Amino acid sequence: MQRQQPRREPTAGQRKGFVAFFHASSVYIVCMSTTGRREPPPFRRAELLSTEMLGPQLMRIELVGDELSQMVIEEPAASVRLLLPRPGKDLEIPVWQGNEFLDADGSRPIIRTFTPRYHQDDRLTIDIVIHDGGAASEWARSASPGSPVAVSGPGRGYAIDQTAERFLLLGDETAVPAIAQLLESLPGVPVDVDLVVPQGFGKVGLPAHDRVDARWHELGGDRGASMLSALSTRERLSESVIWCAGQAAAVHAVRNYLFKELGLPRSQATVRGYWKS
Ligand SMILES: Cc1cc2nc3c(=O)[nH]c(=O)nc-3n(C[C@H](O)[C@H](O)[C@H](O)COP(=O)(O)OP(=O)(O)OC[C@H]3O[C@@H](n4cnc5c(N)ncnc54)[C@H](O)[C@@H]3O)c2cc1C
Repeated sequence: MQRQQPRREPTAGQRKGFVAFFHASSVYIVCMSTTGRREPPPFRRAELLSTEMLGPQLMRIELVGDELSQMVIEEPAASVRLLLPRPGKDLEIPVWQGNEFLDADGSRPIIRTFTPRYHQDDRLTIDIVIHDGGAASEWARSASPGSPVAVSGPGRGYAIDQTAERFLLLGDETAVPAIAQLLESLPGVPVDVDLVVPQGFGKVGLPAHDRVDARWHELGGDRGASMLSALSTRERLSESVIWCAGQAAAVHAVRNYLFKELGLPRSQATVRGYWKS
């Protein structure tokens, strides 16, 4: 029978994140970094199956790959990392270096974050905003079926407050897929949706929904001001559980407005920066 060891205070090495296991004649030293980030789920290989334009600036891509079947996505508005090949190169699966994924030569791979719009078995659908100068956007425009990619995920989604009496979903064009998914998941209470999108984007990407008051706002010069202007059309903010995502500076303005100016409790709103200008 094994003798119970008395509990000991951690050694200096253990406090720093080093743990030594003594086994027979060998000593195993395991480094548990307290400074590194938690390693994301592994990249799973897949390939492009098909593309479809949902609107002039929103492209739906469908990926297929046996390894995608191992992914479990339970919450709406979750995220996946999409790894793309460098133009003209084979797809290289990067290695986690404690803080980020890097290629073997130390360079940064092309990885972008998207909402897993639909996932079933070996298929994954993503809706990508098409814009100038974006690596993922350019890839989506030019890739053909069979093009290799890899997907890591999921990342944290949205835990729906089942007691909420009303929701407000606010976002820019990159939040359309997440908002569409939230609409399919929210309980049967009224939902206000405000989407602030560039001219010509169209009213695309949302499912038909009978309890929704959806308003599409055309983006003005400043993204933050446009989002605040969309919010100003709503009268029942204090009664609503709010979810908001979009360009980082714009949602920062929303965060300030909700929490500092209106004084709403932090628990009432989830505000996420999706991209930086
Ligand atoms: C949790 C999460 C979920 C997301 N879900 C989606 C999603 O489902 N669909 C989606 O399209 N995006 C989504 N995004 C945003 C997406 O990750 C960024 O827009 C990303 O930068 C796009 O990559 P890119 O390679 O096309 O552009 P990048 O190469 O990253 O950027 C190139 C330049 O384009 C600018 N830029 C980036 N995105 C846009 C844009 N949309 N419009 C105009 N300029 C832009 C950048 O500021 C930069 O100057 C999500 C982000 C997060 C964090």
